[in-house]
Amino acid sequence: MDLKNKRVLVVGLGKSGLSAAMFLRAQGARVTVSDSRSAVALAKEIPALLEAGIMVESGGHGLLTFRRQDLIVISPGVPMDTPEVKQVVAFGLTVIGELELASRYLLGQVVAITGSNGKTTTTTLVGKILSDAGVPTQVGGNIGLPVIDLVAKSTPETVNVLEVSSFQLETIEDFHPRIAVILNITPDHLDRHGSFEKYVAAKERIFERQGAGDALVLNGDDRVTQMSAARAKSEVFWFSGTKAVRRGAFVRDGVIVWVEKEGGVTEPIMPVSEVHLKGAHNIENVLAAVCAARLAKVSAESIRASVATFTAVEHRLELVRKLNGVEFYNDSKATNVDATMKAVASFSKGIHLILGGKDKDSNYGTMAELLKERVKAVYTIGSAAEKIERQLHGVVKMVAAGTMQTAVTEAAKAAAAGDVVLLSPACSSFDQFENYEHRGRVFRQLVDELI
Ligand code: ADP
Repeated sequence: MDLKNKRVLVVGLGKSGLSAAMFLRAQGARVTVSDSRSAVALAKEIPALLEAGIMVESGGHGLLTFRRQDLIVISPGVPMDTPEVKQVVAFGLTVIGELELASRYLLGQVVAITGSNGKTTTTTLVGKILSDAGVPTQVGGNIGLPVIDLVAKSTPETVNVLEVSSFQLETIEDFHPRIAVILNITPDHLDRHGSFEKYVAAKERIFERQGAGDALVLNGDDRVTQMSAARAKSEVFWFSGTKAVRRGAFVRDGVIVWVEKEGGVTEPIMPVSEVHLKGAHNIENVLAAVCAARLAKVSAESIRASVATFTAVEHRLELVRKLNGVEFYNDSKATNVDATMKAVASFSKGIHLILGGKDKDSNYGTMAELLKERVKAVYTIGSAAEKIERQLHGVVKMVAAGTMQTAVTEAAKAAAAGDVVLLSPACSSFDQFENYEHRGRVFRQLVDELI
């Protein structure tokens, strides 16, 4: 794609939008960026953009700005049904995302990982396994480093391990991973996608360009991803934490095993006891990573060594401290109900659970049975508190804590030796915190200050 002198508009000035704008400019395009935030809110970004010769439209989108372009690059935070975007799509203008743009320039192979939960953990682990094995590896995407920033250092030998979200997948055209992984699909982001069907369809786009030489790794225990197999043109591999699969990775007699071909030899990878991550969901992540790594030709021995030295990614069921026999876990990244259920299921009983934040149209009632079985008390925080209290009324003891500070203090006071205080809020963080990392850091600090 020759971008020289092309008029390109970047919509949304997040991390990836900023990187995309700079990249496009370096390719000789005439770049404008448009963001609904005010010039004041964008004060940090604007000088560097102007310096690079990029025009900036702030405080809203002008339809004229949109109409005048050869190409529009839209950020994952901007919905495709934004009125200006809908109009230019109707006029036949090409609208793509940063993932699509980057994949047109990225050299080497792509391993792409999506799912409602577990993406960052699995992407980080696959990246570690590959680089430990000496494969030239780059890790990026939704995990933090924009894919466009991987372009410069990519070579034909590079394996690019990418975490991709449903929002990024909504705006691809030719994105084509050699290995694609769908970890699970459970309700999330329904406020943005509109329906579960549309969310599933966005996730499934990860394999729409795959062909016979490519591999698709699916979760054999997830009803929704099971159905994706029928729509794949690539070779499907499965992982399962509960049963044997025809091809892929599963657990047999406490050992993670891999079967490359249906009816072929079962190759032992490692004992489950060597995995230092909490919870059955993390075994699923490890199994998915084993599939991706074996498909990328890493040896069983090397995978075993890498997995055995892998510990929880920050804010993902991370042990903060043990105080007077009480363990404090930071799972701030659990921003939906399914992630929280997985965290709760990782402990047999005695849980003091901090729930709440900004609601995403979630149904907290689905947690009732599990909470009744394992949770001693729920401490609610943030704007979703009232809804949570209503939907879980009578299920477990509820403490309307309001703030993280009160929640931590009250939970610590109530917890007895052997109990667990778990921040796994099932909500996003934007009502009281900058983001989930900020929320996790505040929790950690409060826990560290406990006497
Ligand atoms: P993502 O990048 O998809 O948000 P993370 O690895 O950051 O995934 O984990 C997010 C949260 O989801 C964690 O807090 C963890 O409790 C939960 N989680 C991790 N892996 C899984 C899984 N395979 N299934 C369900 N929940 C998971």
